[in-house]
Amino acid sequence: MNDSVTVFWFRRDLRLEDNRGLEKALVQGRPVVPVFIFDSDILKSLSGRDARVEFIHGTLRDLDERLKKFGSALQVYFDTPENAWREILKRFRVEAIHLNEDYEPYALKRDRKIADLASSKGVSFEEHKDQVLFAKSEIAKDDGRPYRMFTPYWRKWRAELKATKGAAAKDVPSEKHAQNFAKLEPRMPSLEQIGFTPSGISVPKLKFDRASLRSYGRVRDRMDLENATSRLGTHLRFGTLSVRRAVREALDLNETWLKELVWREFFMQILHHYPYTVGQPFDARFAKMPWRDDARGFKAWREGRTGYPIVDAGMRELSATGFMHNRARMITASFLTKHLLIDWRLGERHFAEKLLDFELSSNVGNWQWVAGSGCDAAPYFRIFNPSLQAKKFDKAGAYVRRWVPEFGTGKYPEPIVDHEMARRRALTVYSKHIKGG
Ligand code: FAD
Repeated sequence: MNDSVTVFWFRRDLRLEDNRGLEKALVQGRPVVPVFIFDSDILKSLSGRDARVEFIHGTLRDLDERLKKFGSALQVYFDTPENAWREILKRFRVEAIHLNEDYEPYALKRDRKIADLASSKGVSFEEHKDQVLFAKSEIAKDDGRPYRMFTPYWRKWRAELKATKGAAAKDVPSEKHAQNFAKLEPRMPSLEQIGFTPSGISVPKLKFDRASLRSYGRVRDRMDLENATSRLGTHLRFGTLSVRRAVREALDLNETWLKELVWREFFMQILHHYPYTVGQPFDARFAKMPWRDDARGFKAWREGRTGYPIVDAGMRELSATGFMHNRARMITASFLTKHLLIDWRLGERHFAEKLLDFELSSNVGNWQWVAGSGCDAAPYFRIFNPSLQAKKFDKAGAYVRRWVPEFGTGKYPEPIVDHEMARRRALTVYSKHIKGG
């Protein structure tokens, strides 16, 4: 290709509609080469059966199908981002690279490297905000410092949304702009070529169940109901759903659900301002917390064999589907960090491996919240009683029956730890540690 081109780099924004960076690329007027890179460094750290990789691959094929209509094709690379970009810059006369911002530490480092490479070749590198309504310091205290508490953040976010009409979504690309996709031959490795095989787990289809979302505030804690929450987390994670569209729906349907979308942005700005929290407690008093070394307890927790049926139901739902109900996430995380006194980082890594909707900022933020070491965290003395939680939020026991069919038979294990003893132990260890500094 001799014409100079614009490249649009897809990452966690896998859609054509209301994609801010793509829109900017298409209006430049030059042919737009759509690119995706399977990062070989990330892929080699995963097991060869990962439903998220499969979901990305399937989504890329759908995008490719749609691009065919414009005579174009997604250019999919499987390499380190640096190598892939060297090849792209050799293959095309690239004038500009457009992409949407990604705020995770690994992504920031990667993007800096590619920006430097582009700049060394005289290619412009243009990043756009897409994944959130408000990024970085856009929602900050009057003196410019970041919020560490959710409620004032939420109030400011809500006011800013009104002020800026931030949820306006554009349904680009228009037919006219879509004609700007470069005419290209397909370049799509198969799932096997990138080292993966089908996992047997699939992502729920992108669907707004408006009737359920209207009653979200009332039923969201009900673990027995399968449609009590939206199940849109994975779509928000990979950008198959635009967050502006989700926010517009929330404004129409339910304020409580809107708040959940804002928790997502709250934790993203926490990660931006306090990147150390990925591996260290937000609250320094927890830095030397004497977590227990308990390989057997950790294994029983992972496998859903703790003898606490509601904990086991959550952990087995996670293994079987890649999803776990939010209430169950809180109960299982509390059980690990309080009943077993096991380091939240081990639990966080396990969820990271299994959750289809794994989002670094939300996972770390919520784990620290439960462990008591986070910003705006639950106080350390809040220890979930698994039996009471089950009575309240799985009244008729349907959730437990679904995931722990042998509960109530001789095959079900005895509790690995006594609740009262564990509660007292956690209170003693936490309070002693915090008071002792
Ligand atoms: P809904 O309840 O319908 O909410 C809509 C969306 O709002 C979610 O998809 C998500 O994007 C966002 N959201 C909802 N609750 C939260 C929250 N507490 N914090 C941040 N965002 C929220 N959420 C993730 O997206 N990725 C994670 O890796 C993750 N790890 C978690 C770990 C623990 C220990 C806990 C307690 C919670 C975690 N959450 C995480 C938050 C929450 O459990 C999930 O977002 C939610 O269960 C996903 O289901 P849903 O898509 O039906 O969400």
